[in-house]
Amino acid sequence: MFPQVLRATFFPEDASSADILMKNADQAMYAAKNNGRNCWSCFTSNMRAASEIRSKTAYELRDALRNQQFYLMYQPILELATGNIHKAEALIRWQHPEQGTIYPAEFIAIAEETNLITDIGDWVFKQAVNQVALWQTNFDIEFQISVNKSPKQFINKMSNWVNHLRELELNGRSIIVEITENLLLDMHELVIEKLLNFRDAGVQVAIDDFGTGYSSLSYLKKFDIDYLKIDRSFISNLDSESNDSILCEAIISMAHRLGMKVIAEGVETDSQKQLLVAMGCDYAQGYFFSKPLTADKFEAFLLQQGQINPYIQSSTAIL
Ligand code: C2E
Ligand code: MG
Ligand code: MG
Repeated sequence: MFPQVLRATFFPEDASSADILMKNADQAMYAAKNNGRNCWSCFTSNMRAASEIRSKTAYELRDALRNQQFYLMYQPILELATGNIHKAEALIRWQHPEQGTIYPAEFIAIAEETNLITDIGDWVFKQAVNQVALWQTNFDIEFQISVNKSPKQFINKMSNWVNHLRELELNGRSIIVEITENLLLDMHELVIEKLLNFRDAGVQVAIDDFGTGYSSLSYLKKFDIDYLKIDRSFISNLDSESNDSILCEAIISMAHRLGMKVIAEGVETDSQKQLLVAMGCDYAQGYFFSKPLTADKFEAFLLQQGQINPYIQSSTAIL
């Protein structure tokens, strides 16, 4: 039988020792696997540079948590029918001492590969829970913060999030956990157990980037999913004639019939917002309303929108 992936590197152009040639070939194999199976790839010097950057990032990530280099930004999620903002998505940032702000696209995958995602994810969760508790108390409103949770976090041993909510005497509904569609295809018993645990505790679950993975509609019902977040790629091409518009309408109608609410991601223009309102979409998030904000700026934004009283004091959570 042929191998599913062929890898190649050349002697003496790429390296002269067998050891390094084998490493090069491995890097070519990873590149080929990333492009899907049944393909081949040749080693290039860019691969070596990328691999060196990955190793450096993995090394530095280990200390980032201990050195308090992470912080959270909060992006408002607006209820389209009322304009109310009672939800926000927590998005992690890494304040690197030399490189400045590093975005999650550059380090979450590495944190997953190295299993550091478990500790980072626990930190994100606790920070978000403390923040939502402060906002609920100070603003006297029902507020929810959604946190992204990688598939790896379901499999690895992690602190019990539901217990943490109970310790703070917080209602489970204060938190929405965002997962991706592909997680539902993984029938790992730990995934099922944790999703059912969340449901029993009242924690809501959203499917992030909906439409980009293997959408298995039967699983949506089975796991009692609360929200579908339509991926930005569908929203960016919305106009009344486009195929994406038809897809969005179909997703919204299906979600409603299955008892789920819909959040549109990446809304950047008023016309996108108007189309989503006309389709009966429930919530929207995107630069048109606000970019992700620090906790202080988020409060100022709520104040400016008339969503909270002006006499309320600042309430940034610090762990
Ligand atoms: P996501 O969960 O789908 O989050 C939405 C991303 O889209 C965010 O990027 C947000 O800043 C960006 N965004 C929101 N509105 C707009 C818009 O109108 N236009 C454009 N162009 N972009 C918009 P960000 O913060 O860079 O996060 C990227 C991804 O990293 C997230 O995608 C999520 O998958 C992951 N991520 C972020 N924080 C965490 C975390 O704490 N844990 C884990 N496991 N993953 C995280
Ligand atoms: Mg998300
Ligand atoms: Mg998303």
